[in-house]
Amino acid sequence: MKKHINIPYFVPHEGCGHSCVFCSQEKITGKECKTNSNIEEKQQFFDTVETTLATVSTDTTTEIAFFGGSFTGIEEPRMIMLLEWAYSFVKSGRVSGIRLSTRPDYINEHKLNILQKYGVTAVELGVQNMNDAVLTASKRGHTADDTRKAAKLIIDYGFTFGGQMMLGLPLSTADDEVYTAEQIVEMGADNTRIYPILVLVGTELHRMRLAVKYEPPAFDELVDRGAKCLEVFLKGGVKPLRIGLQASDEINSYREYNPAYGELVWNRLYLCRMINLIESGGITDSVVFTVNSADISKAVGQKRKNINYLVDKYKFRSVKIISDNTLANGDIIKTATILN
Ligand code: SF4
Repeated sequence: MKKHINIPYFVPHEGCGHSCVFCSQEKITGKECKTNSNIEEKQQFFDTVETTLATVSTDTTTEIAFFGGSFTGIEEPRMIMLLEWAYSFVKSGRVSGIRLSTRPDYINEHKLNILQKYGVTAVELGVQNMNDAVLTASKRGHTADDTRKAAKLIIDYGFTFGGQMMLGLPLSTADDEVYTAEQIVEMGADNTRIYPILVLVGTELHRMRLAVKYEPPAFDELVDRGAKCLEVFLKGGVKPLRIGLQASDEINSYREYNPAYGELVWNRLYLCRMINLIESGGITDSVVFTVNSADISKAVGQKRKNINYLVDKYKFRSVKIISDNTLANGDIIKTATILN
């Protein structure tokens, strides 16, 4: 199977007339808002794409990805200019497509016609949450129903639809987030990105926190919620493209930012699966789980944390995790137990 890479091009906060309480796009993407001329920017864009393409092997498919703002909200001449630049690489066959992220309420037939004309293949929506009370408290400026309508239109036009969600928004519970994941599956998403909340200085959320009107869930709770959502996505056949915020100089400086978040979510998912298998299989003295070799570290956990947890909780004499590559990625079975 061919490898896939995206060439990201960030358009921070461009096209967005909103102020979500958690948003500081320049800090999340690590890139300041646009100030340079079209000529300079065109050069920068082509340099970015060419530099990446020079390192890509022939067994790799490549897409140009416009991320960071609300692409379809960008002033139309500028949006078309960016698309034309990217489309020149699609037409020459050097990249296979263009993907972008945007807001649900910035999708309509007119905009999708433009995207279709310029070779866009995938549209990711910032779904964030499917509870209207959470969307209102987060000042998203759209409803869950706007998201349903936008997702349907994207799929009807033949684009690949991706749904991005954020964990820990104001008023959001773990149940809201599982429901959001279920809705993203239900809406027909092909892929997802799961972001844990990070309270950035200068955002409204930060001011709410200082005023003791909001406190983010503890990190371990965010890991737990991420694992529950990931389980919903995997069962629904939705590919997780990213779990956790992209590192940048700015967010790296936050004590609450943990670059290992995605890995910890995968570890927790396997821990939950192992607990389910143990508790549905009767009391045992030792236990052996089998997974694909690519998943061994996810099942064992960072610093053997999952193994240690199971030994401690169930007083096992031993917990072993072995590999069998006839199992698909993500599968786990309990292969042997010794009864007490
Ligand atoms: S829609 Fe996106 S870019 Fe706009 S304020 Fe909200 S999070 Fe930021």
